[in-house]
Amino acid sequence: MIFRNQTVQSHTSHQYEQRAKLTLFLLCNFYNLIFFITFVLVQLRKIMENIKTIAKNISEKGLKVTPQRVAVMQALYKLHHPRAEEIFREVSATIPGLSPTTVYNVLDILVEKGIIRRVKTETGGMRYDAVPDHHHHLYSTTNDRVEDYFDPELDALLTDYFSRKNIAGFRLQEIKLQIMGDFDEPQH
Ligand SMILES: [Zn+2]
Repeated sequence: MIFRNQTVQSHTSHQYEQRAKLTLFLLCNFYNLIFFITFVLVQLRKIMENIKTIAKNISEKGLKVTPQRVAVMQALYKLHHPRAEEIFREVSATIPGLSPTTVYNVLDILVEKGIIRRVKTETGGMRYDAVPDHHHHLYSTTNDRVEDYFDPELDALLTDYFSRKNIAGFRLQEIKLQIMGDFDEPQH
């Protein structure tokens, strides 16, 4: 009798254990699902905010907001001082059938309106820059790598120096440096 009770108890405890495991499994999946949905919603919100900012920047300069212009700006934010061909490749993935000429035209008009900038490198390559804040560039001729360099102290120093210097016959607009060197860390 005692033996049978033990069997019943062991069976019940096994069932309880199974139920607990199932509950834990469902709970974990439920939380995973909630986490996944939250992650997707956060990402979607970021994308929407990004598109809203891009659209605002474009329309503020008196340009019509088109999918091509938005896509080019998105590519510029995603890539790091990209070449026109890299932008074309990136944009083609979202807007198939787009011609390289359209991308070049979009880039030209964005530069013309001051929304983005061209960055010339020592190798003669042309890069594009969508970072609106004033900055200089660190440049490596070894691998043609370009990195942004922000230094308000240097800006103040240069502005002060050139305003005192007052170069004859030259009206200063902006000072941007391309600082040459080599990076210790590889590019990410
Ligand atoms: Zn830059």
